[in-house]
Amino acid sequence: MTIEEKFATIKADIVASCKKVGRDPDRVHLVAVTKYVSIETAREALDCGVDHIGENRVDSAVEKMEALGDRGSWHFIGSLQSRKVKGVVGRFHYLHSLDRMSLAKELHKRMPEGETMNCFVQVNVSGEESKSGLAPRDVQAFIKEVRSYPAVRVIGLMTMAPFVNDPEETRPSFRKLRELRDEIAAQQLEHAPCTELSMGMSNDYRIALEEGATFIRVGSALVGGE
Ligand SMILES: *Cc1c(COP(=O)(O)O)cnc(C)c1O
Repeated sequence: MTIEEKFATIKADIVASCKKVGRDPDRVHLVAVTKYVSIETAREALDCGVDHIGENRVDSAVEKMEALGDRGSWHFIGSLQSRKVKGVVGRFHYLHSLDRMSLAKELHKRMPEGETMNCFVQVNVSGEESKSGLAPRDVQAFIKEVRSYPAVRVIGLMTMAPFVNDPEETRPSFRKLRELRDEIAAQQLEHAPCTELSMGMSNDYRIALEEGATFIRVGSALVGGE
C-alpha cells in the first residue's frame, strides 16, 4: 500500500472508531511518526495531507525540518534529556514526554519570554519498569507544581500502552489515562487545561480512539517501520 492509501485507511478507522462510541472525529489529530524513515518519506506524508509529524531525536528531526521547511506541526515524542531542550525550543510545537520537574524547569528557562510549550505529561499507567513516565498517583501533585514554570502549558496526558499481542488488552491503560485526564481537567487549572489525550500507536490506535484519544501517534502503519 502507498502512504496515501494507508493514510486513507487510518482516517477511515478514526471515523469508524469515533462513530462506534459517539465521538466527534474532528477532535482527533493523527501524528505521523517518522522516526524510522527518510526525509523523502516524511515529505510524502506531508504531501498526502498529514499535518502533524512526530520525532524522538533532536538531530534527525532537525535534518528533516531543514529539508521540509515550515510544513506541519512537529511533536517531540521521545524521552528528552535536559541538555537537548534547547534543540526542541523554537522548533517543536508539542512535547509529549514531560516526565520530571527538572525538564519543566529547563523548558521554562529556555523558552522565549511570554511563550508557552504545549506539553503532555507522560504517565506510566501500566507500571512496567522499562517505561518512562510518572506513576498515576503522582500526576496531580506534579501538575500543580509545574505551575512554577509558566512556559510549560499542560495540554494533556500521554501514555504508551504495554506491548501485548491482543490490542484489546491495552484498553484498561487507556481508560485509566482518560479518567486521570478528566479529574485534572475538572479542576480547570489555568496552566493545565489538560483536555488532550496522546495515546494509541500502530497496533492499538483503534482501542485508544474508543477510549478518548485526541492525538494518536502512528509510525509503522502509516509511513513504514523498522
Ligand atoms: C515510535 C513511537 C510511536 C509509533 O510507533 P508505531 O508502533 O510505529 O506506530 C509512537 N509513540 C512513541 C512514543 C514512539 O516512540
